[in-house]
Amino acid sequence: MTSFPAGTILGYPRIGRRRELKRLVESYWAGRIDADELETGARDLRAATRRRLAELGLGRDDSSIPESFSFYDQVLDATLAVGALPARFADVAGDSLDALFAAARGDAARAPLEMTKWFDTNYHYLVPEIGPDTAFALTGDRFARQVAEARADGFTTRPVVVGPVTLLALAKPTDEAPEGFSALDRLDDLLPVYVELLAQLREAGAEWVQLDEPALVSESLPAPASELAAAAARAYAVLGAAASRPSILVAAGYAQLTDAAWAALAAAPVEAIAIDLVRGDVPAPVAGLEGKTLVGGVVNGRNIWRGDLRGAWGALERLRALGTPVAAGTSTSLQHVPHDVQDEPDLDARLVSWLAFADQKVGQVAVLARGIEQGEAAITADLDAATAALADRRSAPGVRVDAVRARTGALSSDDFTRGDYAARQAAQEAELGLPLLPTTTIGSFPQTGDIRRARARFVRGELTEAEYEEFLRAEIARVVELQEDLGLDVLVHGEPERNDMVQYFAENLDGFAVTANGWVQSYGSRATRPSILWGDVSRPAPITVPWSTYAQSLTAKPMKGMLTGPVTILAWSFVRDDQPLAETANQVALALRDEVADLETAGIRIVQVDEPALRELLPLKAADQPAYLEWSVGSFRLATAGVAEATQIHTHLCYSEFAVVIDAIAGLDADVTSIEAARSRGEVIDDVAASGFGHGVGPGVYDIHSPRVPDVDEVEGLLRRAVSAIEPRQVWVNPDCGLKTRGYEETTASLRNLVTAATAVRATLDQAV
Ligand code: GLN
Ligand code: ZN
Repeated sequence: MTSFPAGTILGYPRIGRRRELKRLVESYWAGRIDADELETGARDLRAATRRRLAELGLGRDDSSIPESFSFYDQVLDATLAVGALPARFADVAGDSLDALFAAARGDAARAPLEMTKWFDTNYHYLVPEIGPDTAFALTGDRFARQVAEARADGFTTRPVVVGPVTLLALAKPTDEAPEGFSALDRLDDLLPVYVELLAQLREAGAEWVQLDEPALVSESLPAPASELAAAAARAYAVLGAAASRPSILVAAGYAQLTDAAWAALAAAPVEAIAIDLVRGDVPAPVAGLEGKTLVGGVVNGRNIWRGDLRGAWGALERLRALGTPVAAGTSTSLQHVPHDVQDEPDLDARLVSWLAFADQKVGQVAVLARGIEQGEAAITADLDAATAALADRRSAPGVRVDAVRARTGALSSDDFTRGDYAARQAAQEAELGLPLLPTTTIGSFPQTGDIRRARARFVRGELTEAEYEEFLRAEIARVVELQEDLGLDVLVHGEPERNDMVQYFAENLDGFAVTANGWVQSYGSRATRPSILWGDVSRPAPITVPWSTYAQSLTAKPMKGMLTGPVTILAWSFVRDDQPLAETANQVALALRDEVADLETAGIRIVQVDEPALRELLPLKAADQPAYLEWSVGSFRLATAGVAEATQIHTHLCYSEFAVVIDAIAGLDADVTSIEAARSRGEVIDDVAASGFGHGVGPGVYDIHSPRVPDVDEVEGLLRRAVSAIEPRQVWVNPDCGLKTRGYEETTASLRNLVTAATAVRATLDQAV
């Protein structure tokens, strides 16, 4: 059995420095390349990754390089390997590319697996569907082939596989599963397949395997922590006893292991445990640790800061006090950060010196590993350099701006509160004169090829600013006219000026930087380029006001101003780590508050502030949730509470678990909240009714994720159901979400049906009153 290396990372970005994987996979989907070409391209990408990691300081043959590639998603890979795709995929079974992509994307005949967010990140995984009858069987050898491929190339790498407890804990029951069924009940049936998988990996030459078990840190999963810990004890007793297997590293990032899970893993017959020392502390001594390697996740896998390397070293030293071998590691896989900050020619050099993307983080791990092997003296210069960068960052212009701090320092509770809702409602009804069941949309209209091409030409300098603005104004005029034709009640300008709902604001606020190549996988072949919030935030000039006022000038109907809320801006950016999020959120909120005020002054009577990420940032630990809700809800209120009673504030949330977040939604105190209801429309309406929520609410009446056009009867049925469960005066009529990914054909047809249905139901209500 080989010992564990002194340093490692838990995973590496798989999309490629120039999103090569996206291009490969999408070419395959489009039929431009065949399966062989795709597999060859992916193999080249993996080979380049291994070489790069060795160059950055990881060992070629000591298992410190993780084999963490995935064509689409790591949870799907594990699901496929254990043969657990739902029955509707029976005809594409196996671990072929066809099976993989059918499960990921669906096809004409069947729905794909559902997608949801991976712990408290913005990465989405595919949800396994497991029932009492799901058959498990080792399927294919994708993981083993990658190990063998690395061996052939002179590397001994460490395959990374989602562990059995997490795979089941993240699964949802199949439709056939009886009430009360938990996928974890199937653990004993699944484990023999993992035993076979381990043997296969060993056979291929793996000396270590990494089994990812982040479920063991969470208190937000359906299964309670005690049950998860018991499952871990059971699982690793069985896997540890396997006759032929690599040494096992169980990795649990994203937060601190629960006490029960820590005790279970320490007692289990595995050789190493990776823990998150960024979001967690050095755990208490516990029985069974002797001889196990502890991989201290001291390099943050979730942000892009170079950070406090000396502090990281200190944490490793404290971990050593547990009396067992220690290795340096990342807190999570690096899949959540971009590849390389040296690949950012346009970023300010001083800012770059404070940053670490994946490659720089690998370098940090290599430094810490050297410290472990050779003693602190060997790395003093590196620790000092990081400390100096940190000091430079603290004192650099823009990081702390007195005027911004004076403003947040002077806030009082009045700044967070609007007047009484009943008075607001009366003032708004008088001001807006809207009918019952007002119809509206969530903000964006289709981002057509024309729009994307015009933006690209503007970025390349082929269109002047004046020409580009002219183009956008024409687009807005077209969208306003279309909405007038359709007979919608509250109009939008369509958001053609935005590439992305967060980046657009980041580009227009001080305190943010935008990257050129800083792509991070969001799901499958999709990646986003989060902005970097590095300094105190303020708004140098109005951002959306010219667009909204132009749009309002074209119509007598109310034009809704559209902003992205402070919590979402934080959630989808890389945020400074040198002050509490609450402080940063208030700065962003004040900048937005100025924008809201300017919109109001310019005659915009309705402003929507989107917070689709409110749920996603909810901490995994129950104890941390109240403080989060306090500051997140507070920052939204700060952004919106400056307006007159007659100005109507809307918000939009992109999920349907209304029951889970009702307290937060009520806390936002928006006048109108639109929510997604795609999964089960009826349920959402019932949840709203049961909650007693008394403000305006627009449960989406059709799903915008597919081109399907809802017919009038369907929308009418939903609206009738809504007005019988909720006060008709509360109900708004809107789609689930923005229309930017849709085409015009289905958008026009859907909205026409939406308006027809609202008009019909409204007529019956008008008769009743
Ligand atoms: N206003 C945004 C849009 O319509 C909202 C999108 C979102 O919440 N994800 O595109
Ligand atoms: Zn949405």
